[in-house]
Amino acid sequence: MKRFGIFALCALLAIGFLFVIGCGTPAETEKESSLILPSIIKNPMPADCFDDLSLPKEKRAFPDIVSPRFIDTINVLASYYDPDALEADKSLGKEYKRISGEGKDSYKGVFQVYTAYGVSAHYLIPRDGNIYETVDPENIAYHAGKSQMPDGRINVNKFSIGIALVYSKDESPTEEQYKACAALCQMLKTKYPIKNIVLHSEIATPAGRKSDPWNLDKDKLLKLIGPL
Ligand SMILES: [Zn+2]
Repeated sequence: MKRFGIFALCALLAIGFLFVIGCGTPAETEKESSLILPSIIKNPMPADCFDDLSLPKEKRAFPDIVSPRFIDTINVLASYYDPDALEADKSLGKEYKRISGEGKDSYKGVFQVYTAYGVSAHYLIPRDGNIYETVDPENIAYHAGKSQMPDGRINVNKFSIGIALVYSKDESPTEEQYKACAALCQMLKTKYPIKNIVLHSEIATPAGRKSDPWNLDKDKLLKLIGPL
């Protein structure tokens, strides 16, 4: 009886093992093809960045909360930090400090310039594919400017989430940026009824006002995101 019990146990274990193997294979394949969302770093607010609290409220990167709001669109844009533009920007009344050691691909630099210009994006994704959330998506951020959707709606900021990839005009997004942006869009899709993924260049008005995100392959991005 005891022997039979052990035999039965072994048989059960063997069946269980085969079952796990059988089920595990397709799941693993699926895992390989799906994107991994990097952990989102919220409110990085680098200490060496522009002191946004010194700006009038409407000029800050963190505007008043305007929620709940209806969100069905993601606006993908691109920005970079140009330390050499400091003086030119100063002549326009947009002041910010040079951050030592930070180049064009610096999200800290972009954040600082945004603050000086009174604009913002919910997310900044530098070339390493890290994701920085600088405005809660429940709130409006100011990344689209004068804008119009193909369906005719204006003020795209009102109903959209802005994702800014950090790279300059003569570059293309990195694979890490494509993947992080797509994974972020997938996550946002689970939270909001996203129906449109638009590029800044597609919605900025008048047409041609904005050319970013430069050299971005939209089909590639949409394919990574999957069906909306
Ligand atoms: Zn733009």
